[in-house]
Amino acid sequence: SIPLGFFSGIGAASKKGILIKGGNHLEALNKVHAVVFDKTGTITKGNFKVTEVAANEISKEELLYISAYGEAYSNHPIAKSIVKSYGKEIQIEKVKDYKEIEGYGVSLTLEDKKILLGNHKLMETNKIDCPKTDKIGTIVYLAVENEFKGYLVISDELKADSKKAISSIRDLGIKTYMLTGDNESVAADIADKVGIDKVYAGLLPDQKVEIFEKIQSEVHGNVIFVGDGINDAPVLARADVGVAMGGIGSDAAIEAADVVIMTDELTKIVDGIVVAKATRKIVT
Ligand code: ADP
Ligand code: MG
Repeated sequence: SIPLGFFSGIGAASKKGILIKGGNHLEALNKVHAVVFDKTGTITKGNFKVTEVAANEISKEELLYISAYGEAYSNHPIAKSIVKSYGKEIQIEKVKDYKEIEGYGVSLTLEDKKILLGNHKLMETNKIDCPKTDKIGTIVYLAVENEFKGYLVISDELKADSKKAISSIRDLGIKTYMLTGDNESVAADIADKVGIDKVYAGLLPDQKVEIFEKIQSEVHGNVIFVGDGINDAPVLARADVGVAMGGIGSDAAIEAADVVIMTDELTKIVDGIVVAKATRKIVT
């Protein structure tokens, strides 16, 4: 039977906008020794903006046009920011052979030309001679017919309460980690601003799972994973407590999670842990 205290704990949490899917998860929350965060949409708003257009051999207008057409089918927040920045109507029938390459970018054919759009790893994989910029930001490189044609710099913003949430978690004696598919320099910049203990960048979806399991094996106690995206569902499912940010989260993430935060506020994680600890006192 489930001790009564768990019901009051789940009720108290739900009043704060934290949906806990069962008493076992509340108990698991109480034994947390580490919190692993996804970056995009979790620590940051996931609200990307194009902040620079650097064209090579073509005009900036052409670069933006090709990039917007390339991203028109993608739901990735990076893609949406490019389409928004282009601002004009897209004749989607021009886009042929579209493929999304998870953790890398996209490929397609536009006006009979082969287009590749994504991170530096995508360019390397396709053996494209592509200079690597040292700009801080998420960089989307463009290749047309396997030739480098420029890049876009895309920037995200921190959520207002990320720093506070992470310092409160550390004050509880809990270690903090960040995993991201984004590049090292953006990851380090963000981790530094919010005070994350350890960062893993440039990860493909499968590698997120591997690193998460490595952290689990190093930490004595439960490990929380907090994420929002479709890519996060496998890690959410492996976590001792999987937390989905419901404010902007995908259905797949909400489904795979043990705990759903109904807003996009990271401080709700702290509230959840505090409620779990208080409930524990009532139960025992
Ligand atoms: P995160 O871990 O930050 O959620 P993802 O795994 O979704 O990131 O993506 C990792 C990286 O892959 C992105 O930072 C970006 O460089 C590249 N990428 C993914 N999807 C796209 C896309 N549609 N267009 C361009 N680049 C993309
Ligand atoms: Mg993500």
